Amino acid sequence: MPFDPKTDIDRIPTDPGCYLMRAADGEVIYVGKAANLRARVRQYFGATSDTRFFVGLLDRFLDDIEVILTSNEKEALILENELIKRHQPRFNVELKDDKNFLHLRIDDRVDWPRIDVVRRPKKDGAKYFGPYHSASRIRETLKLVERHFQLRNCDDLTFRNRSRPCLQYQIKRCPGPCVLPVDRDDYAAQVQDVVLFLQGRHGELVRALNDKMQAAAADLRYERAARHRDQIRAIESSLQPQQVVEGRDIDRDVYGLYREGGLLELAMLQVRGGRLVGSKTFGFEQQGTPDAEVLSTFCNLFYSGGNPVPDEVLLPVEADGQAALTERLGDLRGRRVVVKVPQRGAGRRLLDMAARNAEHAFFQARRSDAVRDEGLVRLKRRLKLANLPYRIECYDISIFQGDAAVASRVTFEGGVPQRAGYRHYRIREVEGTDDFGMMREVLMRRLQRGLADADLPDLIVVDGGKGQLGVATAVFEDLGIVGVDVVGLAKSRVVDAGAREGPVQRSSERVFLPGVKDPVRLDPHTHEYFILTQLRDEAHRFAITFHRKVRDSDRLKSALDAIPGVGPARRRALLRAFGSVAGVRAASLEALADVEGMGPRLAAVVKDALEAAG
Ligand code: SF4
Repeated sequence: MPFDPKTDIDRIPTDPGCYLMRAADGEVIYVGKAANLRARVRQYFGATSDTRFFVGLLDRFLDDIEVILTSNEKEALILENELIKRHQPRFNVELKDDKNFLHLRIDDRVDWPRIDVVRRPKKDGAKYFGPYHSASRIRETLKLVERHFQLRNCDDLTFRNRSRPCLQYQIKRCPGPCVLPVDRDDYAAQVQDVVLFLQGRHGELVRALNDKMQAAAADLRYERAARHRDQIRAIESSLQPQQVVEGRDIDRDVYGLYREGGLLELAMLQVRGGRLVGSKTFGFEQQGTPDAEVLSTFCNLFYSGGNPVPDEVLLPVEADGQAALTERLGDLRGRRVVVKVPQRGAGRRLLDMAARNAEHAFFQARRSDAVRDEGLVRLKRRLKLANLPYRIECYDISIFQGDAAVASRVTFEGGVPQRAGYRHYRIREVEGTDDFGMMREVLMRRLQRGLADADLPDLIVVDGGKGQLGVATAVFEDLGIVGVDVVGLAKSRVVDAGAREGPVQRSSERVFLPGVKDPVRLDPHTHEYFILTQLRDEAHRFAITFHRKVRDSDRLKSALDAIPGVGPARRRALLRAFGSVAGVRAASLEALADVEGMGPRLAAVVKDALEAAG
């Protein structure tokens, strides 16, 4: 029996907890939390000011409401977060964009910490910084840190196996703790300086470095004093573009919203020690979700996901369950957090700035999005897909003249390439030229992982016709995957091979759909044609580039193997020092000569041999 508000609402308890709305097929379509479950559910029925489009459709969609009781609203907030992650209900605000961001990670509890670049923060006790919008922003930050703070940048395996410090040591970017007797306290102090720097607590860091500089000078340790002076200069120059937005030396995240139609842009300004150190924007397509709920769900998901919680969170309107949210953020941070809606003063000005940022980001994003969105909508309609293909992955198997086969995956989000979602796969299980077997192996590996991480695309495109599509649908069946569309994209064919004159005629691109005999023929000059062919061409390009890289590296490897006088021990030493044969090739004569067991004569032989091979 479908949910009947007239009789069923009164059976819902008035306690705090979470409610799960289910459709007739059992799918959880929405998860919410409330201090009083019955009162909250009642708000969805009768006269409601809730303009979300699904609320208007509840009488058609809704089959059941399941409730889970908690002892208080804060527990409901934590549970809501878990339930949203588990069920990914289609009508909840999703932090989709956050998947594209990168973070920096330092685990300062281990010996000789280093900085790692990671996609998502984990609750593993390490410190995370970001999110960073682009790899180039991360690269700039890392460069600055490398140049002015001496932390190792080698991986743990290299670190454990070094017999002498690498180039980083020689150019004074690492004290060489891999083999040299480095003072642990000194290194730990550097790590803490880097943490302050990445947290944007620049004022505090400059003060600390100033003290260290004075102390070093007083001890006549002039080299150290000079290093601290250079660090202070570097920090100060990196600060110049950052605006001082208020006098108070506290950390704040400030939120602004901008809406138009069913689209919503959320901006977050990060203020650290009174300076604006960054801003992030997130776009949502959830129609009409009230601001209070957007803010509550977003903050809960964002900070529960491991992003650092500041001293204060400034919101444009009171969040749904703000008291519980405040408590939850305090728990996550381990210290008191203030969540408030300032009406005047510096706080209000920051809120206005956040709102302007949200509006600006909205128009920036939509201008180019509008055309692409149209293409995605048309693609959905033309191929009768279940989902709007926001995230598409395309798989291609390439076998190049007798070389090893390579599979590649490219990812498009919102109709544009997302390089972070590109992957190469070396085929592990299938031998020979069994295209289908390889496609099966790659899809199995990808989708099994996707299932475990709840990270699946909206549409999978396999390069090929019915055969490849058959492999993909069999993998879907074996893994029990539903809710992800899959199609096969076959290249156009020459249709008038017999013609002797005139331009060659080609058929249009053909898209094979599961369970449909005849392929859909895409018209050139349409958005959908453009998106799919761009995707497929990108997959080919990516496969070829990778293949060349592998081939070049194999060629260099065999060139290195063939150099007289370079036996296994020296080869190992070279690879350890430079990471790869390409690294050995790029190394200077001096650096080569410096490697254990080498010397200038052999270094010259290696250099000549690799240059001739490459
Ligand atoms: S291998 Fe290089 S980067 Fe790593 S600790 Fe040694 S000197 Fe530093």
